Amino acid sequence: MSHYPIFADLNRRPVLLVGAGHVAERKAESLIQAGAQVRVAAAALSPRFETWRQQNRIEWLGISFQTAFLDGVFLVIAATDDAALNRSVFEAAEARGIFCNTVDTLDLCSFIVPAVIDRSPIKIAVSSGGTAPVLARYWRQAIETLVPLHTGTMAEIAGEWRSRVKKAVRTMPERRRFWENLFASRFSTFVAQGNRAAAEAELSARLANLDTPRGEVVLVGAGPGDAGLLTIHALQAIQAADVVLYDALVSDEILAMVRKDADKISVGKRAGAHHVQQEATNRLLVQYAQEGKRVVRLKGGDPFVFGRGGEEAQVLAEAGIPYRIVPGITAALGATAYAGIPLTHRDCAQSALFITGHSRHDGSEPDWRTLALSHQTLVVYMGTLKAADIAAKLIEYGRSADTPVAVVSNGTLAHQSVQTGRLKDLPHMAAHAPRPALMVIGEVVALREELRWFADSEPALEMAQIHAA
Ligand code: SAH
Repeated sequence: MSHYPIFADLNRRPVLLVGAGHVAERKAESLIQAGAQVRVAAAALSPRFETWRQQNRIEWLGISFQTAFLDGVFLVIAATDDAALNRSVFEAAEARGIFCNTVDTLDLCSFIVPAVIDRSPIKIAVSSGGTAPVLARYWRQAIETLVPLHTGTMAEIAGEWRSRVKKAVRTMPERRRFWENLFASRFSTFVAQGNRAAAEAELSARLANLDTPRGEVVLVGAGPGDAGLLTIHALQAIQAADVVLYDALVSDEILAMVRKDADKISVGKRAGAHHVQQEATNRLLVQYAQEGKRVVRLKGGDPFVFGRGGEEAQVLAEAGIPYRIVPGITAALGATAYAGIPLTHRDCAQSALFITGHSRHDGSEPDWRTLALSHQTLVVYMGTLKAADIAAKLIEYGRSADTPVAVVSNGTLAHQSVQTGRLKDLPHMAAHAPRPALMVIGEVVALREELRWFADSEPALEMAQIHAA
């Protein structure tokens, strides 16, 4: 048997509720919310029912179930702890062709009540057909986190504009596209921010300029690799995209979550051609947006941390293309957390510095004196090729050669590997590290011994070599 899903309009319709205990209260609550006239058949009322009775929200029939109570009702819910009574309610309802739900007894139900995600006027119902209510509730919770709270307001605004849109956008497919584009655009960000005026202005501008495509770009941080570290905004953006331009650093697991019919374009950097690649990427972003596409620029980690997100946003701002930024978990946060290395700790590190191992364009030197201070954690991005230089300079400017260091490769991914050692070993460790790799320098690294929780690998052979060196 498979149930036929419906949403019933119970407003001002009589519904009989048999029972007035704890379970019946939950049923009464949702019936009252739906505007039903709730008639309660029970010999006595719980205090909560008594309050409802005083507020005229329910009608108390004064005694337990009688067949005559079924007269004129649309639905009946049997919610007593008396199995025989529940059965007779069901049988009487069946005889009269009235829908009946018996709490927790599937074979005494002609209808069942789903688990509901309520973003009124949007409602999402989940049911297991009575076979596994706990599983249905599990999915309700999972969906609950995915459906933004402001979805209801979006539906409300759409409802108010519906007839105007219908007049302006003639065909069904065009209208569908109009709404899809709108809901995936910054319209939804404005609604989420409670800025209804800006949201309606966006809608109105789109309606007034139907022939001018209104694309936009979302710069999305994909995090360090583990797909579970995507934010909900990131997931929603990649599932709404027409085009996704992604870096080499974005994991396959995350790419698999991109909307199936989106164009996926790799703009991965090739060593030596950074500049050219970046210009080409900038051009593509602008071009796709000008064609009216929903473009996602998907970047490893966070777009604004050594990710050139700032430059790309500048290009978009100059071209007058609407854009949004979705931050991501940067490698320094993800990789250290999964390696069991706290970036700060009251006992040994009061600050953390994120630096790049890449040399500066103008060839000038970083402030080694500051970088070599103790009681701070240094995290080096893109640094493995420069590890020897970096270690030598830090030691030269006063950091102890015995400072604990780690090189975390493929941080947060199933194949994460971590090497630990001393600052003087860093060049060897970096040379052996699979990429991408992050170098972490500071006393906090020693805490990994105690705090290691993620099942990563520690290349034993290489460690032995390092210690022998
Ligand atoms: N925007 C990114 C950084 C891009 S720079 C972010 O916020 O994380 C690229 C460098 O990031 C790599 O050279 C490496 O040092 C580091 N990195 C990125 N992902 C990593 C990972 N999963 N594990 C270790 N290091 C990583």
